[in-house]
Amino acid sequence: MSRIDLHTHSTASDGTYTPYELVRLAKSSGLKAIALTDHDTTGGLKEAFQAAIELDTEVIPGCELSVEYKGLMHILGLWINPDAPALNESLLELRTKRNDRNEIIVEKLRKNGIDITYDDIKALAGDAAIGRPHICRVLMNKGAVSSVQEAFEKFLGPGGRAYVPKEKFNPEKAISILKNEQATVILAHPFSLSLPDDELTRELVRLKDIGLDGIEVFYPEHTGQQINLYSSLCSRLDLLPSGGSDFHGSVKPHIKLGRGRGTMNVPYSLVQTMKDRRAEQGLWV
Ligand code: AMP
Ligand code: ZN
Ligand code: FE
Ligand code: FE
Repeated sequence: MSRIDLHTHSTASDGTYTPYELVRLAKSSGLKAIALTDHDTTGGLKEAFQAAIELDTEVIPGCELSVEYKGLMHILGLWINPDAPALNESLLELRTKRNDRNEIIVEKLRKNGIDITYDDIKALAGDAAIGRPHICRVLMNKGAVSSVQEAFEKFLGPGGRAYVPKEKFNPEKAISILKNEQATVILAHPFSLSLPDDELTRELVRLKDIGLDGIEVFYPEHTGQQINLYSSLCSRLDLLPSGGSDFHGSVKPHIKLGRGRGTMNVPYSLVQTMKDRRAEQGLWV
């Protein structure tokens, strides 16, 4: 069986592998295809395409958007055009909000006695869409915390001393931005909505009405029971099943590309089904 990974992050956002290194790792891990789905940016896609040609590995261009929701809701757009003006304008707006938020996080960290500046974070992150994992790495490099977990518990996560919520689009807006670009729209890690089964079903029906095409069935945190449930919901609601590891490199060291915590198996047939659906809809593949 050919395996794939449709949820990955590179140095264009908060991952630690460059797009090229990520595609090389996909190749050496025996994956037939990956989707690069950086947060709020298409900045890594061109390098990933170049690597795809050189290394003969399929790269599906994507991005990941966090949206307003009472739980945690993330939406992936697959088959986006890296140069689409309207999409990039929206993503720039989100990155600008991120920077405003990051500056407040840094101020709060300083008030907590940590000697940190925004320049320290820029020096590490470069042109990336900067997020909390970058700040976490700076905190670790400075010895202010000794682990990722400590950084999020003490400072960066909800309840932490430097926590600042992120400004997001609502699901309607995020989905319509992606649909306007002819993307295949996937709900990432549905477990994070934290809904009982019946409410999840209703939420999926609502999201499908506004353009959702599919959901991640395979994800490192999903139990066997959840995989079965999400898979049967895909059949019942005519949603496309997807799956990916949410690989971030060394900021999530327990997650392996294409494998998650070691047992994840996402078959290439899922990509083929998505492509068939896109072809039926007259969309490019
Ligand atoms: P941001 O987009 O800046 O809000 O950062 C979100 C990213 O931080 C997620 O994609 C995760 O990679 C990471 N993250 C969030 N919570 C934690 C946590 N408790 N431990 C480790 N990483 C986390
Ligand atoms: Zn991330
Ligand atoms: Fe996510
Ligand atoms: Fe992600």
